[in-house]
Amino acid sequence: MKNIAYYEGRTSLIDEMMIPANDRAFYFGDGIYEAATVYNHKIFALDDHLDRMFNSAAIVNIKLPYTREEYAAILKDLVKQVDHEIQFLYWQVSRASAPRGHAFPGDAKPTLYVYSKPLEKVEMKDDYHLISVPDTRYFHCNCKTLNLIVNVMAADQAKSCGCQEVVFIRDGLVTEGSHSNIHIIKEGKLITHPLDNLILPGTERKHILRYCDQLGIPYEERAFSLDELKAADEIVISSTSQPFMRAISVDGQPAGGKDPEICEKIRSCYWAEVADLYE
Ligand code: PLP
Repeated sequence: MKNIAYYEGRTSLIDEMMIPANDRAFYFGDGIYEAATVYNHKIFALDDHLDRMFNSAAIVNIKLPYTREEYAAILKDLVKQVDHEIQFLYWQVSRASAPRGHAFPGDAKPTLYVYSKPLEKVEMKDDYHLISVPDTRYFHCNCKTLNLIVNVMAADQAKSCGCQEVVFIRDGLVTEGSHSNIHIIKEGKLITHPLDNLILPGTERKHILRYCDQLGIPYEERAFSLDELKAADEIVISSTSQPFMRAISVDGQPAGGKDPEICEKIRSCYWAEVADLYE
């Protein structure tokens, strides 16, 4: 197939998938989601995504009806059916399909929606432009919920300024981007926001710290200010589909771009793991 969608056991092309309007994802964004990259019909870092999915579900009290192995089997089966080597795989679990009402329906049975579609290539770009915006989100940012209205508005603000991402600022400190984590490198050390309720525990963030360990690059998990970001040697944006982007401007002023060697070393660890999926 050229792409695939799945909803509660039914499969079709994405554009042809029908989903009940009573699905609570539609009314309330009452659900959680994950996105992963697929290389050679194998899902990169699937274990990390499943770990986070179960964690997100626990935070919002969604009782997942399947085991990890059952979810993994569904996802693996679907990506095999798409005729493309690199794919973008997305899945979401909604609390239930039930008549609208804020409180959880009594017999809530979570629903699973998945799609996978071709991805031309995964690139590591060196030319990101960023704008800082106030982080007006709530205090559950560690949960990958479907409620993304502030992220969506921020991403659109970045786009309308010709930027690729925002830098969310809360209490004077950088938290993350609208759909990415943000790290800085200063004097050979990587600095990244600690894991707490103000950021999403990014899978790529986790991998980057592991690559730093492998390479003997020191890192610190602490919040940093916008001024520190602007004065950093490198500003790194990470996410599943944008694994290691370097920013070169913040709020219209040149920034970062001063330590490409360290960035190339970290990037090469990612590509080595991708190469493993072709063996
Ligand atoms: N932070 C936010 C708000 C995100 O939406 C994302 C990814 O979508 C990330 C961070 C990065 O997470 P990951 O590296 O798992 O893609």
